Amino acid sequence: MKQILQDLSLAEIRALVGAAGEKPFRAVQLAEGIAQGKKISEMPVSAALRSHLLAEYEDEPVRVRETFVSADGTKKFLFELADGNLIEGVLMRYKYGNTQCVSTQVGCRMGCKFCASTLGGRLRDLTAGEILGQILVINRLEGGRAGDRAVTNVVLMGSGEPFDNYDNVVRFLRNLTSPDGLGMSARNISLSTCGLVPEMRKFAGEGIPLNLTVSLHAVTDEERARTMPIANRYKIADILQACAEYFERTGRRYIFEYSLIEGENADEAHARALAALLKGKPCHVNLIRLNEVKERSLKGTDEKTAYRFLGVLEREGISATLRRSMGSDIGGACGQLRAKFLS
Ligand code: SAH
Repeated sequence: MKQILQDLSLAEIRALVGAAGEKPFRAVQLAEGIAQGKKISEMPVSAALRSHLLAEYEDEPVRVRETFVSADGTKKFLFELADGNLIEGVLMRYKYGNTQCVSTQVGCRMGCKFCASTLGGRLRDLTAGEILGQILVINRLEGGRAGDRAVTNVVLMGSGEPFDNYDNVVRFLRNLTSPDGLGMSARNISLSTCGLVPEMRKFAGEGIPLNLTVSLHAVTDEERARTMPIANRYKIADILQACAEYFERTGRRYIFEYSLIEGENADEAHARALAALLKGKPCHVNLIRLNEVKERSLKGTDEKTAYRFLGVLEREGISATLRRSMGSDIGGACGQLRAKFLS
């Protein structure tokens, strides 16, 4: 694979343009071209610079192979990377804008028992530019520009564990929020982790005040370990401590994802224990009924059980919402995204 131009910061693009003997304004043109989702072959730069770039960088590091449209308006995209690897992504339409769910790895090695992304393990990390590329391509396809984005919000909730690909993810976040690029506010970005405590701590010091989201899905370490192998490594108490540090340093409240699994974590007793665990903390709970993954035996609860769980949290004064599942008819809902490898 060649290098990926979308990995670079504006400072690095300036250095590249300088080294190629081009005038500095070409760097700004290049950065603008990248933000508009242009391929190198379409960039408004000199013919010499274009052919120099094409020799060393991928013209189209991320391209859409297929699009699936759900009855609820959600779109799922199958993206092809330059080495033939495939990843999935989703665009959800809300009243306030469009939220794109991006992948951070091809596959995942966290092994959660309810999730399709981890079925084949982790094939490789995505580079920063491959994560950004998913957004650039969709923003352009949906008719957005750098200053008037069609993709208004981004969630790092596709396949992969973002903190298992820490450096590339942080680089991606800096480029996505840079005013020289798409200039997205960190407030419009959510990063979801299964709870890699050392990386959560480190991230609190990066100065990127986004919506930190942790996949909790259980109230005790023992129960959590039944569905999430990572629970054998990091304790819920340490996750809560890392969340508290994040709040102290960024002023951002944090979010817990809690997928309701039939017969596993969805009784009223679980709801009361969850409320006790989170009482008084600056956090929000996102409940969702587990989506079905055909290779997996775990099932979501019925709606009534989910509302009962929500009711307990609300009565206990915990900020919580029950999210409706989007795009499940096209395999685009939480936990249904896969790495598909071209063989
Ligand atoms: N690796 C990160 C990012 C994945 S985000 C993480 O673990 O947080 C996807 C979210 O969907 C996570 O909260 C994940 O636990 C949840 N999820 C996985 N499979 C699911 C399923 N079948 N139904 C509902 N949610 C699921």
